Amino acid sequence: MSSSTTPHKKVVAIAGAGPAGLTLAYELAVKAKNIRTILFEASSSIGGLSRTVPFMGNRIDIGGHRFFSKNPRVLRRWEEIKECKMMQRPRVSRIYYLRKFFDYPVSLTLHTLKSLGLWRTLRGGLGFMATRLRPREERNLEDFYINRFGTPLYRMFFEDYTEKVWGIHPSKLGAEWGAQRVKGLSVTAVIKDMLKKWLGIKEKYTVETSLIEQFTYPKHGPGEYWEATAHEVIEAGGELLLDHPVKYVNIGRDGKVESITVTDAEGNEESVMCDYFASSIPLRDLIKSLRGIEIPEEVKEAARELPYRDFITVGLLVSELAIKEKGDGLDQHRKLIPDTWIYVQERGVKLGRLQIFNNWSPYMVKHAENTVWIGLEYFCNEGDSLWEMSDSEFINMAITELESIGFIEKDKVLESIRIKVPKAYPGYFGGYSRIEKIREFLDTIPNLFCIGRNGQHRYNNMDHSMLTAMEAADCIISGSTDKSHIWNVNTEQDYHEIKGDSR
Ligand SMILES: Cc1cc2nc3c(=O)[nH]c(=O)nc-3n(C[C@H](O)[C@H](O)[C@H](O)COP(=O)(O)OP(=O)(O)OC[C@H]3O[C@@H](n4cnc5c(N)ncnc54)[C@H](O)[C@@H]3O)c2cc1C
Repeated sequence: MSSSTTPHKKVVAIAGAGPAGLTLAYELAVKAKNIRTILFEASSSIGGLSRTVPFMGNRIDIGGHRFFSKNPRVLRRWEEIKECKMMQRPRVSRIYYLRKFFDYPVSLTLHTLKSLGLWRTLRGGLGFMATRLRPREERNLEDFYINRFGTPLYRMFFEDYTEKVWGIHPSKLGAEWGAQRVKGLSVTAVIKDMLKKWLGIKEKYTVETSLIEQFTYPKHGPGEYWEATAHEVIEAGGELLLDHPVKYVNIGRDGKVESITVTDAEGNEESVMCDYFASSIPLRDLIKSLRGIEIPEEVKEAARELPYRDFITVGLLVSELAIKEKGDGLDQHRKLIPDTWIYVQERGVKLGRLQIFNNWSPYMVKHAENTVWIGLEYFCNEGDSLWEMSDSEFINMAITELESIGFIEKDKVLESIRIKVPKAYPGYFGGYSRIEKIREFLDTIPNLFCIGRNGQHRYNNMDHSMLTAMEAADCIISGSTDKSHIWNVNTEQDYHEIKGDSR
């Protein structure tokens, strides 16, 4: 790689070949042209958290990535990459609790009430009414949930699961997390929804729900889309270097990014001059990588204390599931339950969520007709006991847990794989309360753009991550240094999908 620049072309260096970095590279290399785009990726794969990992002819999606967006520009981009075949898939996701399935999000149906039983239903109803009479001051996420569901329902459906996901009790998490992720969901909303259904009232909400009940998904998983995007970038003259982590971001005397230092697979360092730098690397790492600029102590400290939640997924190939169900949606041939993913609320297991990849796309499974390919999701912290377990120990624990809740029988397991995913979730606690300080400081560097999920330390989905990149591309092309549009993505209250998804 040469560090010399072609005189008439602006050089844009991008860190990270996940959805954000690849979208920016696509906007610049394919759409804008006349810009030299160089994308540096630390790992040897494309797609970041949205990659698809091949395993013995099967494909594992890290967490299950629905392509869902309300933004026309993003929707157009998904259609534009012709090399990737998209399918419309039915979304079926349920909660597994008390060895029974409940709607996700919880709905007030006869089935729910029957499954909960008379005693729990009564307790839930009374608890909710008590909260309505005496609402709590909302100081934390526990208060937020209790105000909307009452204490008994909160304990049944939210307390344990939230702690599993974040490793922190809801009473220690900010209420604003709930406001962002769980808005629109409450017992009142559930009752209103039920009444509307009974009375046959249709409105905007119905349209949104129907969109959410189907989602777009590439035939071979999300990685297929991102690999196809990378291919188009390269075809258009963009450069993509895998195994090239960005180590330092060097700020010149004029206060602008002047170059970046990358390392190659052999550990050699090289400086690359650039006119613009866009980063989708975690904010904590970005602050650490800055050279040639004085970083205020409070910014350093806030960045150091930005929290993340890490993630482990186990792929299990089984000849069949032990759990069978009668009723609609049943695959008659294999009697496979219809769920794409299942929230596991059973107490006593560490397992958080379960994917059935056959239902995401049969093309994810080598022998979809006689095997079931499932993904188990565990939330953890890098360095904790789950993270440090050996692969075989971890897989054994996962199989034992799954058997203990009646999902599989051990002797039906054919193959397994464990994948560790650091920094899967940016946390909204700790240093997050001072995120504005980090942003204000970074915004003083005019040609530096923070894009994506960890790049902004925001709970961005793929579409949000893409939008941050599109906004950054617009800035770079127009020469604007106003980054407010980039930071404002995914802050509007209505933008989110409703109902507390732990994506
Ligand atoms: C379990 C789970 C389920 C999800 N489900 C959905 C879903 O259903 N739908 C949806 O839309 N979104 C979903 N998401 C969110 C989605 O994964 C992210 O929004 C998206 O991948 C973020 O894209 P990104 O490019 O910002 O970051 P990433 O995907 O994290 O990519 C960043 C890239 O930067 C690289 N990198 C890091 N440091 C450096 C460095 N120093 N130098 C160079 N490269 C570096 C990384 O290796 C990585 O490849 C889910 C996420 C998780 C964790």
